[in-house]
Amino acid sequence: MIIVLRENTDKGKLENLTNWLTSQGLKLHFSEGLHSTILGLVGDTTAIDIDLLKALDIVEDVKRIQEPYKNANRKFHPADTVIEVGGVKIGGGTFQIIAGPCSIETQEQITSVAQSVKDAGASILRGGAFKPRTSPYSFQGLGAQGLDLLIAAKEKTGMPVVTEIMNLERLPLFDKVDIIQVGARNMQNFDLLKELGKTRKPILLKRGLANTLEEFIMSAEYIMAGGNEQVILCERGIRTFETATRNTLDLSAIPVLKKMTHLPVFVDPSHATGVASLVAPMALAATAAGADGLMIEVHNDPPHAWCDGAQSLTPQAFADLVKAVQGIRPFAYSYQKEA
Ligand code: PEP
Ligand code: MN
Repeated sequence: MIIVLRENTDKGKLENLTNWLTSQGLKLHFSEGLHSTILGLVGDTTAIDIDLLKALDIVEDVKRIQEPYKNANRKFHPADTVIEVGGVKIGGGTFQIIAGPCSIETQEQITSVAQSVKDAGASILRGGAFKPRTSPYSFQGLGAQGLDLLIAAKEKTGMPVVTEIMNLERLPLFDKVDIIQVGARNMQNFDLLKELGKTRKPILLKRGLANTLEEFIMSAEYIMAGGNEQVILCERGIRTFETATRNTLDLSAIPVLKKMTHLPVFVDPSHATGVASLVAPMALAATAAGADGLMIEVHNDPPHAWCDGAQSLTPQAFADLVKAVQGIRPFAYSYQKEA
């Protein structure tokens, strides 16, 4: 349920209202907009009398929220959420590109890719240390040592970094990591989501291989219910009957998610297509459809990458793509302009 408050509400009356609502076992969520303040109620509101609330002179309107997600709901928080990491703003009309290799291999590799993607216009560095691989015989990532190499590249280039967590027990190792990634395969690892909800680090949550958008947002809701409201959603392709691409990029997820939630929406065309030559067209399409940013795999020597070489761009191809993306940005769909 949301309560739209009138402008310049009397502080005493508002306090009486919030005290009463809290005494009913509800959690309150304030969202200050340009013209009105929205008070979101989380919990069981079935016993709350809407007409009684509407009769209060500090209340403009009261609406029930049908959707199961509350904190992530655009109705709770009409303005875009803006997340800041290391001086980089994500969401709210900004556009950020996360780039880097699938996995961290050596200090030279991660530092050289970091420097080239930074020079080309990326603002956040990616690199996997704990890799969720389909085969147990494939390279599993450098683990804790990989994180050290990533942090060294961060210190060298000044770029904030994002890397994936697979196991809760590793959380203490992520201290210097700016954004923690939850991969597609862990989107519904609810214990992991709950624990990340207790942290105050931004979380990049990837859509599960076969999950609906509502399930995707419910996973964000798990993190937010713990008090961590800094969630970035990332569409990375879903399973369909098509085999020409690694997954099928769901472009419509972008405007749909922007309407359903206030969270930033990113797109990963690398894992969506699995083919380097398809990354640019899909990145441009995602930009045009209103994504808040992109995540792109880039490798200094794709044919010899330890993981996902076929979908990795060379630093030069990435630099060309960034220029093309910048050309499209002024014409991109904007939910806020539309709304
Ligand atoms: C990744 O970004 O490194 C990754 C493994 O992606 P996904 O979880 O989307 O497959
Ligand atoms: Mn990869």
